[in-house]
Amino acid sequence: MPSTSQEWQSFAIMLQKLHKIRGFGYWQMSLSTGQMYWSEMVYEFFGVDPDRFIPDRKDFIRLVHPSDRKKVAKAQQTLKKTGAIDIKYRIVQPGGNVRWIHEVADNSAPDDPDILLSTLQDITDHKVLEKNLRNQAITDDLTGTFNRGHFMKRLRQAFSHFCRSEHNAAVLLFDVDHFKNVNDTYGHAVGDKVLKQVCRLFKERFRETDVIGRLGGEEFAVLLFEITPDAALAIADDIRQKLANTAFTTHTGATFYISVTCGVAHFTADDATEESILHRADTSLYTGKHHGRNQVVGEVQC
Ligand code: GH3
Ligand code: MG
Ligand code: MG
Repeated sequence: MPSTSQEWQSFAIMLQKLHKIRGFGYWQMSLSTGQMYWSEMVYEFFGVDPDRFIPDRKDFIRLVHPSDRKKVAKAQQTLKKTGAIDIKYRIVQPGGNVRWIHEVADNSAPDDPDILLSTLQDITDHKVLEKNLRNQAITDDLTGTFNRGHFMKRLRQAFSHFCRSEHNAAVLLFDVDHFKNVNDTYGHAVGDKVLKQVCRLFKERFRETDVIGRLGGEEFAVLLFEITPDAALAIADDIRQKLANTAFTTHTGATFYISVTCGVAHFTADDATEESILHRADTSLYTGKHHGRNQVVGEVQC
């Protein structure tokens, strides 16, 4: 341990350097006076100038993201009571940059009972990575739509919501007609481009809140909320027409067209599970396939 004041000074400088390398900071507060100290890195995390900003709990709360303020205020109470916290929250720097902070404190055996000490780490990069991984797990690589697993989860949630509230919802099930011919004639890579283009059109045509999923190969499902049966059929037919009128060109200059068949099913009180809605959409889709393809088929009346 350092003994002279000079040794302590170089020790403090080295500590600051280590904190910088590891993206690590700390604050200290005197319980009796309320006076705060922030280490150099904390100023950097919060994007404030150490020469102008005087650390203060009220100003600190103002820098916390509005959605996290309640959580942070609660953690502060816990910290006061128990001396320990472990919390992740967002701050908004004065320039508008949002950063994620992980704050951990353990004052259970303090050297000075008047001093509260807490450590902070900027975990923004981890959070971005975490989000990307979460997105990857629910996204279809080729088309960027949701994968089957996530679509089914959203359908299940929507059905459970419908059972409680009876809010209208519908499933459109699209299948590209004779898609095997596209691959066989122009190659798999061109087939992939067609699938991407189909999804691009879906994304343009549907609302942000609608859920688009690739159920497999060249089959896609779209979950629409608050929609009447007529409107669902009209949207599906609009997509069908747009795709039928889209010319695809290969790198050799060949031009071709595709078509899709679509089965539409609305949520009903008779559905026992979300699977039965999808099953009805599938039945309609196959009716369309058997009646010449390139068409939209609504509920099949038994
Ligand atoms: P139908 O009108 O009855 O639906 O005929 P289809 O040819 O579209 O149906 P089929 O199920 O016989 O063939 C689907 C084809 O889709 C076969 C498969 O190789 C192709 N496929 C599945 N996934 C992909 C993919 O990711 N990329 C490409 N290029 N082709 C795919
Ligand atoms: Mg097909
Ligand atoms: Mg198919």
